[in-house]
Amino acid sequence: MTEISPANFRVRFAPSPTGSFHVGGARTALFNYLLAKSNGGVFVLRIEDTDAERSNLKFEREILSSLKWLGIAWDEGPEVGGPFGPYYQSERGEIYEKFLNQLIKAGKVYPCFCSQEILTAKKELARKNASPYVYDGTCRHLSSSEVNERLARKVKFVYRFANVKKNVILKDKIKGEVKIASELLGDFIVATSKRKATYNFSNVVDDLSMKITHVIRGDDHLTNAFKQILLFEALGSLPPIFAHVPLILGDNKEKLSKRHGAVGVLEFKKKGYYSEPLVNHLALLGWSPKDEEEVIPREKLEKSFEEISFAKSPAVFDYERLNYLNGLYLRNLPEERVLADFREVLTAAEMDLTHPKVDEILLSLKNQCKSINDILKHYPDFFVRSSDSLGEEDMEWLKSEKSLKLFRLASDVFSKSKEAFISPEEFKELVSLAKQEGIKGKSFFIPLRLQLTGRHSGMELNKFIFLNRREDLLSRL
Ligand code: GLU
Repeated sequence: MTEISPANFRVRFAPSPTGSFHVGGARTALFNYLLAKSNGGVFVLRIEDTDAERSNLKFEREILSSLKWLGIAWDEGPEVGGPFGPYYQSERGEIYEKFLNQLIKAGKVYPCFCSQEILTAKKELARKNASPYVYDGTCRHLSSSEVNERLARKVKFVYRFANVKKNVILKDKIKGEVKIASELLGDFIVATSKRKATYNFSNVVDDLSMKITHVIRGDDHLTNAFKQILLFEALGSLPPIFAHVPLILGDNKEKLSKRHGAVGVLEFKKKGYYSEPLVNHLALLGWSPKDEEEVIPREKLEKSFEEISFAKSPAVFDYERLNYLNGLYLRNLPEERVLADFREVLTAAEMDLTHPKVDEILLSLKNQCKSINDILKHYPDFFVRSSDSLGEEDMEWLKSEKSLKLFRLASDVFSKSKEAFISPEEFKELVSLAKQEGIKGKSFFIPLRLQLTGRHSGMELNKFIFLNRREDLLSRL
């Protein structure tokens, strides 16, 4: 398995549909996808719905639509099928049975008849003695007649792994070589019946039978990895190459949570983010390209992830950076696309789009938006004069003799024509009349902007004037 040629890369993402799909899962999916793409390999999606009680169709749908939105397409898996299916653990019972039989035959698993009550009591005792609990192997030592007698009585049983004393060695691409003593894992359960494998056993059988070569996943799976390595060995196989990435942190260096804003992938979509900058940001959480670019086009990402080399320390999800990248992306999009997206959110919010210069207004507001949804604030603001943010200094500007004079001039010039909009000539006329009165530069632009918009910043003042109806401007003067 160490000699893997590029065409043999088989990489998978194996989510459990037991909760909302967050940026952590999205990054894992992305890393695996990029590793497969960059090496000309295959990217597999496998749904780990072994835990039937916690698995939910709603979450599975969320995973699939999030991946689609992010542009992470799978070569094998749900909806597309493939040669190693089914790609749902809940449908792979027969395959687990086959592998379990192999272990039974080799004497590497044994039936355990210990009742829940007995096990709970033993766990309780261990807890009281402050010693870690591992199964004591009671049933491992049953003679075949004792086993047969219990089977005849139809005593409920599970299959346990017959662990042997040794060091379990994980050669991890990020953590390096990590060892633990197998005794710490005990004789863990691999199946509760022939076709009902436990989580770790199904995970191993799937990776093995789907010929998976590389596994990138969160380091919360580190403890599982040791059990899995033992199972791979018991099945006479080498494990895939593992890379356990540190979890993503919020900017307070704690585990990323709702408190930091959106964490569900589709929430970003709802909030008007584009998937491209999100993918760009996710890709750089733990991985760094050779040339330190800040914006990496997708085609380049899909080529630059040839090797697994990630940071050992946890990466921080930086909302400010994402906003910056999203704003940058938005500004570089073709105008028709931006207009269509703006119109979509504004229409959904039932905003009036009948203004004759609506498209020009939207495009002029584009630079103030970090996400598409930001237009929901800037667009109505454009039509409403608000003086909420005006302070004392602004009031002084507005009340000065010069400013009052300027507003009168503007009123005069603007009311001369019956045209719906102010023309560039009229604006020039105002500029030159004001100049004659010694009103120019700051003393022209600041008070006029404050008076017309009620704000300190926004689009260029002349643009604002040309885009607003004459009557609206006059009423603000
Ligand atoms: N199903 C596991 C999860 O959703 C991932 C297992 C793996 O990648 O090996 O966390």
